[in-house]
Amino acid sequence: MFNLPSLNYAKDALAPFMSERTVEFHHNKHHQAYIDNLNKLIAGTTFENMTLEDIIIQTASKAEYTAIFNNAAQVFNHNFFFKCLSPNGGQKPKAELLDRIEQTFGSYTNFEQEFKTAAVSQFGSGWAWLVEDHKGKLSILKTSNADTPIAHQLKPLMTIDVWEHAYYLDYQNRRADFVDSFLAHLIKWE
Ligand code: MN
Repeated sequence: MFNLPSLNYAKDALAPFMSERTVEFHHNKHHQAYIDNLNKLIAGTTFENMTLEDIIIQTASKAEYTAIFNNAAQVFNHNFFFKCLSPNGGQKPKAELLDRIEQTFGSYTNFEQEFKTAAVSQFGSGWAWLVEDHKGKLSILKTSNADTPIAHQLKPLMTIDVWEHAYYLDYQNRRADFVDSFLAHLIKWE
């Protein structure tokens, strides 16, 4: 059984960059629904006692398990996304990761631009990510729908949800403005 993780901030704490209404729908309706669906789908199956990551890896690219994969991946993606937000966000990461970002992308500003391009250019629903591979190489990735770095042997370090439910109440069709707000005011590094 998976449970909805509690948020590390009040639902109204991210306003005006992400409204209480958006957080309420996104966390208590959308995120909760993925968890409820996953729990129903895995009840009584071999997936019931696996970790989320193992469920994702075992069901990825298997047509008979599409529904389990989609819900497990969305639970993982949302668990991670809500930890990437803070009322005191918009800071750069700490020295070690910042150094690696600067070495990979040239500067933190260049990283922000490339991350924004990935987030804005993701066609339809999906996610933009900063990931690292097993050698520690950083890259920016965009994924469609529920797809997740966990299914590609990549470790996520940062993400933004660009499904319309993440921003439409606050920004309507202006996804680029949502990404700007995320980078300037909400992004929280470990
Ligand atoms: Mn979402």
